Amino acid sequence: MSVSELARSIIESPTLRLNEEARLLRERGEPVIHLGIGEPKNKTPISAILSSAAKLSQGDVKYCPTDGTPSLKKAIIRYTEEHYDKVVAPENIIVSAGAKQCLYNLLYCILNPQDEVVILAPYWVSYPEMVKMCYGVPVIVTPEDGSFHPRMEDIERAVSSNTKAIIVNSPNNPSGIVYSEAFIAKIIDFCERKKIYVIMDDIYHKLVFDGATAPPAYRFTTKDLEDSRVIVVNGIAKLYGMTGFRVGWSVAPRKLTEVMTNVQAQTTSCGSPVMQAGAEGALIGLQSMIEALRLQIQNNRDVAMRELSSFTGVKTHKPNGTFYCLPDFRAYSSSSVELSKFLLKKALVVTVPGREFGMEGHLRLSFAGTVKDVTEGIARIKWALDPNSPNDIYIGDKKLIRDWL
Ligand code: PMP
Repeated sequence: MSVSELARSIIESPTLRLNEEARLLRERGEPVIHLGIGEPKNKTPISAILSSAAKLSQGDVKYCPTDGTPSLKKAIIRYTEEHYDKVVAPENIIVSAGAKQCLYNLLYCILNPQDEVVILAPYWVSYPEMVKMCYGVPVIVTPEDGSFHPRMEDIERAVSSNTKAIIVNSPNNPSGIVYSEAFIAKIIDFCERKKIYVIMDDIYHKLVFDGATAPPAYRFTTKDLEDSRVIVVNGIAKLYGMTGFRVGWSVAPRKLTEVMTNVQAQTTSCGSPVMQAGAEGALIGLQSMIEALRLQIQNNRDVAMRELSSFTGVKTHKPNGTFYCLPDFRAYSSSSVELSKFLLKKALVVTVPGREFGMEGHLRLSFAGTVKDVTEGIARIKWALDPNSPNDIYIGDKKLIRDWL
């Protein structure tokens, strides 16, 4: 079989692969705990269900405008005004099949072959692959001080005359870190002076804890949106727990949005109007569910931190956003892939290897599930690795004895 070199070079999505592995194990009746998954457990908001159902029951589900239905765009304009204090026009918005497709479209529209995109480690797994898929070159910047917060001087050093964009994801998947306001201000100023796009992946922007806020990038630009280099990508997947609806959007200058619309027209025609109706329902419906979700996730975060703190040798930064943490497991293994496989085999817990996020030796643990999953999942990991933990454990209805330490 003949496939292109480029396509062959693209790695499988490790998180989606792990989801599939966990699903298959569960189907076989194995009591798997999934600490890899990046989606909350809540039910779809009722306003989203009703709105989608109303669209569907009209029996008139046809193509809609490529850049999104006018009524969803209206809801996005209101959302942007409310949460970003920014008034934007419908021509600044394009709706795609998830924030993921927005990011890909965007990179496709701004990159020439060999253009560089600065990516801040730890980073979401898809960024480097998407850049490569657009014939660009990912340039990874890793904080040298062992923290998960990038430093401006490292970024400045990584920028060259080929740099087209920087992707900023705060609150950050996988570390849960929220970048400081001073850092966001500096990066916007730097990029606008250098004419580099700043792609703000804001998909977790309201999932923040302990009074932290993810400051909107627009606050720091002095430019009009049409001349600004700031592009904001957002969606309903994480804040409303609507991952399966596949709706995301970007807010960008009109000219760029127009080009993105042409590209989307030639690839997907448009997103599904049924799903867009659902997204609209979520955006205009009761917003208290976001606060309820945020509080539940914050509580899960506290439980995860408490359980991890009693783990010999494991170092953890306390996340102040998202539903992930990225503990350092180098005391147990320098290969996160091997460690993750070992934990799945011995303890039936799914974790995601840090290597995939540019942080070898770490594991990404999601606390988006139930408190029970978080507590039991970490207890199983501790049992499998920590010689100071009791050497027997119940997994499902089986009592297991640790005989490898
Ligand atoms: N950006 C980040 C940082 C993410 O973690 C995800 C989902 N895991 C996405 C974008 C994609 O979101 P969507 O489901 O809307 O495509």
